[in-house]
Amino acid sequence: MKKMLPLFTCLLLPAFANSTLAQEAPFAIAIHGGAGTIEKDRFSPEKEAAYRAKLQESVEVGYAILEQGGTSLDALTAAINILENSPFFNAGKGAVYTHDESHEMDASIMYGENRQAGAVAGVKHIENPINLARLVMEKSVHVMLSGDGAEEFAKTQGVNLVANKLFDTEHRYKSLQRAKAKMKKAEEANRGQKGNKDYQAAHFALDTEYKVGTVGAVALDKYGNIAAGTSTGGMTNKRYGRIGDSPVIGAGTFADNASCAVSATGHGEYFIRYNVAADICARVKYQGKSIEQAGKEVIHDVLFPIGGTGGVIIIDTQGNISLPFNTKGMYRASKSNTTATYVGIFKED
Ligand code: ASP
Repeated sequence: MKKMLPLFTCLLLPAFANSTLAQEAPFAIAIHGGAGTIEKDRFSPEKEAAYRAKLQESVEVGYAILEQGGTSLDALTAAINILENSPFFNAGKGAVYTHDESHEMDASIMYGENRQAGAVAGVKHIENPINLARLVMEKSVHVMLSGDGAEEFAKTQGVNLVANKLFDTEHRYKSLQRAKAKMKKAEEANRGQKGNKDYQAAHFALDTEYKVGTVGAVALDKYGNIAAGTSTGGMTNKRYGRIGDSPVIGAGTFADNASCAVSATGHGEYFIRYNVAADICARVKYQGKSIEQAGKEVIHDVLFPIGGTGGVIIIDTQGNISLPFNTKGMYRASKSNTTATYVGIFKED
């Protein structure tokens, strides 16, 4: 026989349904502005405050979109645009310089509901590369477009091309000059060695700070869909059309509602070879690991011992967030409907 609820319970139920019992669908966002040699003594209090404010602005803008019922894709593109438009980070304005003193940018985006993805590589005249990656995903039949072709496609979508100079910043220019000087010294020291090892040696002589810097975001919307996006200027003094992991689906960006969404930052060559973003999600999917455990394993146990410096931001469909990195610091921030805004730069944050 059906059990009757006591009268007072029946009277109280509608009230509970609107509050405690009716759980709000989780929604959350995390962003990063790159990992690397980020140490507190390199920051004046003003500089640190300015970086923290920009990270906070980005995460809050993304969060507000989610709160108002926007999609994870809308939230993460808006959050990334703020970082791309800031000279502080290596993406969009503030992108590092290539060997020939211009800027070549890479970006990608992936949607967890249907594993749709879009990416652009080596674009030079796109103000917000993440937006073009999204157009590739939503308006083309392809996943990845590169160089002139990607810009040709941009024009068909009504995207204005901008001058490459728009991305210039003095601090990045100085950094290029330092990188060139270091590489030249290493090349000279190795000239005459067996085989053509001088470029390789020069590349290895460059400190981590020249090889990293990127922005990215992962988000979960109220409809249970996760997404990830990444945008970068790549590596300082890069040449030969070098492309990093950021536009490579599975390496720098991955999203699948069945496991997790990841945006990576770090030495791209390692992230490509170790398929980092997809590997983290595979551990969640096939080994039943939490995103925290899977992220820790790949960043600390797999990448760190082989010299793969960097970090990732991860989210799952429950709104859990994990932000592991094996460098001195990583610009990062997060916010969810159950946790307050968190902003971190250094390891100890
Ligand atoms: N992964 C980027 C690249 O290799 C750089 C970074 O994320 O720090 O191009």
